[in-house]
Amino acid sequence: MTTALLLSGGMDSTCIAYWKRPSLAITINYGQKAAAGEMRASTAICEALDIQHVVVEANISALGSGDMVGRAPSVSAPATEWWPYRNQFLITTAAMKCHAAGVSELMFGSLKSDGFHADGAPPFFMAINHLLELQEGTVAVTTPAIHLDAHELVQVSRTPIEILAWSHSCHVDDIACGFCRGCRKHFETMSIAFGHSY
Ligand SMILES: [Zn+2]
Repeated sequence: MTTALLLSGGMDSTCIAYWKRPSLAITINYGQKAAAGEMRASTAICEALDIQHVVVEANISALGSGDMVGRAPSVSAPATEWWPYRNQFLITTAAMKCHAAGVSELMFGSLKSDGFHADGAPPFFMAINHLLELQEGTVAVTTPAIHLDAHELVQVSRTPIEILAWSHSCHVDDIACGFCRGCRKHFETMSIAFGHSY
């Protein structure tokens, strides 16, 4: 079975790339503010790990809201970075690419802590997997780190700091801002996983 990983270049999907070594990594430029940083990180990680990498251009920035697109969050946003139906879009787009590439398993890097967002929680992944099953494409979505916290994933995957150093977790810019939730989680996880000397 060939596998693919939706690789944003953030530390969670980077750890899964190192841990699971997919046949193909898919990065989607959907018009997010951090796209250039995510492309740079994903390209470097795939070169270092010798994983085939493809970038899909699918700009939906006109439809986004919140920090990731540089617009005020919607009134129904549970957090300022919330982008309505984002994961549903990313999985559907990546599944199209998987089908074209003959890939049957698409890995998505959601963690235990991502259950804070409805589209990062196990019921969402069960539902979207079922939705894909109802169709002809034969692509299944798996979430190998859904039971782990970020620092546990670093430890379980045994991802070395030299690889994680390429990752880009900032939600709001292509150079890490140091202040957004993505950046704060990145530094906190690196401190827990590698000690305060990091
Ligand atoms: Zn940031």
